[in-house]
Amino acid sequence: MNTLQTFPLTMPNGPISTKLFDLAKKYIPGGVNSPVRAFRNVGGDPFFVQRAKGCRIWDVDGREMIDFVGTWGPAILGHAPIPILEAINNAAKEGVSFGIPNPYEVKMAQTICEWVPSIQKVRMVSSGTEATMSAIRLARGFTGRHRLVKFDGCYHGHSDSLLVAAGSGALTHGHPDSAGVPPAFADLTSVLPFNDEAALEELFEKKGHEIAALIVEPYPANAGLILPKPGFLQKLRDITTKHGTVLIFDEVMTGFRLAKGGVQELEGITPDLTCLGKVIGGGMPVGAFGGRADIMDYLAPLGPVYQAGTLSGNPVAMAAGLAQLRELDKQKGYAYLEEIGQVMEDAVLDVLKKKGLNYRWYRKGSMFCLFFTEKEVHNLHDAKTSDLASFRKFFHHCLDNGVYFAPSQFETGFISMAHAKADMDRTAEVAAAALAAL
Ligand SMILES: *Cc1c(COP(=O)(O)O)cnc(C)c1O
Repeated sequence: MNTLQTFPLTMPNGPISTKLFDLAKKYIPGGVNSPVRAFRNVGGDPFFVQRAKGCRIWDVDGREMIDFVGTWGPAILGHAPIPILEAINNAAKEGVSFGIPNPYEVKMAQTICEWVPSIQKVRMVSSGTEATMSAIRLARGFTGRHRLVKFDGCYHGHSDSLLVAAGSGALTHGHPDSAGVPPAFADLTSVLPFNDEAALEELFEKKGHEIAALIVEPYPANAGLILPKPGFLQKLRDITTKHGTVLIFDEVMTGFRLAKGGVQELEGITPDLTCLGKVIGGGMPVGAFGGRADIMDYLAPLGPVYQAGTLSGNPVAMAAGLAQLRELDKQKGYAYLEEIGQVMEDAVLDVLKKKGLNYRWYRKGSMFCLFFTEKEVHNLHDAKTSDLASFRKFFHHCLDNGVYFAPSQFETGFISMAHAKADMDRTAEVAAAALAAL
């Protein structure tokens, strides 16, 4: 049977989502608890989800969708996997939160240090934002310097020093520099274009002695998906070592998604500090930052840099995260994700070829982005050459036909272990029709 017949071409937002959004807007700013969920970049109203299982989500109006957002990265096993549900249940029976050390957090720390060799010691937090914010304070405390370097289009959470030329929702909404960030904070953040060695050298020559930390998404995944040119990450390592700057890899998105040891394992680069989040929480609110023991020991209670959290190392969240990591390992997750990622890639390239479109496709394992531009994308400037009107049409066509991609051109797509070849075939069919309708 033609699968499109079971997914009629027009399925407008059902009335329950609309009613919920109206109510939400009355009580929640913009109706959402995180801006990109508001669909501002693609137009229309967001749908409300009823439940999710495997690679599928069902909205409150009963529409079924194949999901390529995966709760923005964490759902690497797919939604609501049994081992995680069991781990949550078992841990919760013993108590939901203690504020006292518990065995799960020790096991989690040990697992992270074993999987990511550059991490000798690690501290757990409750979000990626907390991880990057804390890592930067630590780097400043350790070096006694104040300046921070980041790259245009990289998103590192929403703390003050980092909302300068940021990606993700901040980019989507057209004001990367947030109101409410004092200019004195923003002044301490230098922003460079990604993949530009000359700009990097110039900045470090002038200001190297005052730069506490350089923070980077080693594969920037919050302006679409951008890959480093050969040698660029090594250049970051060399120049920060030379100038006594702490090199921070923000692997909140890439950590445990691409390999046990993240991008640093794939690229053979050892950062000083690493930020983690998303996949390690198994869908629960978890982040972590860790790295060189001599730097980590600057944290309270051992050292002078203060950092704390009532719910940090929460037993239920740790149990969920540990179950996710254990299953990834047990089921040889990274091998499968590469395999199914290749299936998707072959299908996408085939569709583009048949349509005579030269749009740029980038993929690493289970992360992907199709830029609606013919220009190669090496930095944010290139990404912005994308045809956003066409992306918008494509997005809505796919959504109306049961395939949910991220509601913005400037986001990465995620494949989970619950995506099978049949799901990729259906996705290709829908995407081909969407591109034909542009
Ligand atoms: C999502 C993300 C963050 C922020 O994490 P939250 O849990 O949303 O606070 C930071 N850095 C990167 C690279 C991310 O993708």
